[in-house]
Amino acid sequence: MATFKDEAIVLRAFDLGEADRILSLITSGHGLRRAVAKGVKRTKSKFGGRLEPFTHIRAMLHEGRNLDTVLQAETVRPHAALRGDYAKFLHGEAMLELIEKSLQEHQEVPRLFDILRVTLDVLEGEVRDASLLLAAFALKVCALIGYRPHLDCCLHCGHEGGGGKVFLDLLGGGMVCSRCRPSCGESLPLSPEGLALMRGLLREDMATVAGVERGPREAGEALSASLRLAEGFLERPLRSRQVIMRQLQGNAERQR
Ligand SMILES: [Zn+2]
Repeated sequence: MATFKDEAIVLRAFDLGEADRILSLITSGHGLRRAVAKGVKRTKSKFGGRLEPFTHIRAMLHEGRNLDTVLQAETVRPHAALRGDYAKFLHGEAMLELIEKSLQEHQEVPRLFDILRVTLDVLEGEVRDASLLLAAFALKVCALIGYRPHLDCCLHCGHEGGGGKVFLDLLGGGMVCSRCRPSCGESLPLSPEGLALMRGLLREDMATVAGVERGPREAGEALSASLRLAEGFLERPLRSRQVIMRQLQGNAERQR
């Protein structure tokens, strides 16, 4: 069993007994890991901070049969601002959930750590609309794990949509035109504006997405569709999708 050093971001953390903490981590070069940090809650803990979700650390881990052990950890970025802003927190939590559900334990996907690191850094700063950042994140994570959403033309016949109403084939993983829709399984309607927005979100880098702003209907459509696509690829529901969509709906109703 080896000892290794790596950068990591805490995806989930819960207490074990009086003093220890179990962490779910995505590492830069060693994939998804579960690890125990012993004595983390003692006042003189060698870990400094509390190792909360969102914390970006540089750590030394000892590989275990079931669970690694965190031997040392220093904080690179605490991302504390994400815990102090409810909307950012919700959207950030969805990003952590997406990463955790897209990997098997010890599975490593190149650039998945980097996209999370970059996106959390961006989310902590000035963001026009966190829901668009989350939508872009979901689309890019799908692409990195090998399921790039097919948004350029109809999955079945190659038609480009032509400004008319299209649909998203949730199991096929991309858009279908209205003629081909009857031959696909579960699908969602998508407006031409929603489709154009999603194409842009998949293409642009996160710093650019942070400056994008659209009306609440369009942004909500793109976010909902992106998360539903991710759920289709991952073949499992995202708990945070329901929380966020309820929240957005509540905001829209209050604006009426
Ligand atoms: Zn078609």
